[in-house]
Amino acid sequence: MSARPDGAAGEVPVLMYHSIATDATRKFRRFAVDPAEFTAQMEFLAAAGYQTMTAAELAGRESRAPVPSRAVVLTFDDAYTDFYSAALPVLREHGFRATLYVPTGYVGATTRFNVSVGEEDRPVLSWRALADVAAEGIEVAAHSHSHPQLDRVPVAVASEEVRRCRSLLEDKLGIAVDGFAYPFGFWNRAARETVAAAGYRYACAVAELMTAPGDDVLALPRLTVNAGIGVAGLTRLLDVRPTPARRRAAAAKRVAWQAVRRLVPPVGRDPQEGRPVT
Ligand SMILES: [Zn+2]
Repeated sequence: MSARPDGAAGEVPVLMYHSIATDATRKFRRFAVDPAEFTAQMEFLAAAGYQTMTAAELAGRESRAPVPSRAVVLTFDDAYTDFYSAALPVLREHGFRATLYVPTGYVGATTRFNVSVGEEDRPVLSWRALADVAAEGIEVAAHSHSHPQLDRVPVAVASEEVRRCRSLLEDKLGIAVDGFAYPFGFWNRAARETVAAAGYRYACAVAELMTAPGDDVLALPRLTVNAGIGVAGLTRLLDVRPTPARRRAAAAKRVAWQAVRRLVPPVGRDPQEGRPVT
């Protein structure tokens, strides 16, 4: 177990999962955590005394307000049907809370945006199942409508994507939606402003760092849980403290990756190759 001072600095890891399943294409394999591995990871968190918060709860805390010692946020992107069948029973068993980010254009259908990893037929939860999930206390939040690269589409398109997703979730599920996760983790200043203008209180990015008080709530860092890291890998993720050097490295990586992506068209070649399917 890590020697992290129990929440003393208010640093909280926000973990990002995708699918909890054994079936996956080669390119998607690292995003599909085996249910047995997931179960072992949740058992570890419970035994180690971790308490879960939703991302909205984390984002809503007062700066420097105390968080539970050993707090962790569990997030799941893309609302795959295996969240309901494989993840939710395990979360329920431990009384764990979590946040699910839904790309509303694919509800009750499949992740057609996953074509570059051969997973365009991977099923997404229905509205009825999402209502059940919300009723269990899971935070159901937004992940855009059609899962575009928000930093590469015109502002009007980005605005429509984030507003439509929120209004659909609120209308279909009768819930308030405060949170957003950037598709593929990609964001820039314009995308961030678009999300803020649509009324979201917080948004999650991916920066492979723990969150800390004072973080930009419209670009909260998350840590990717890749398949196969097991419990040992999870314990390492739980201790990636956001040191100044790590923050600088994460910012530089984001800028460098944006430069690389500008060299390829948004469609055609595969700009997500090797990147999180977030
Ligand atoms: Zn996604």
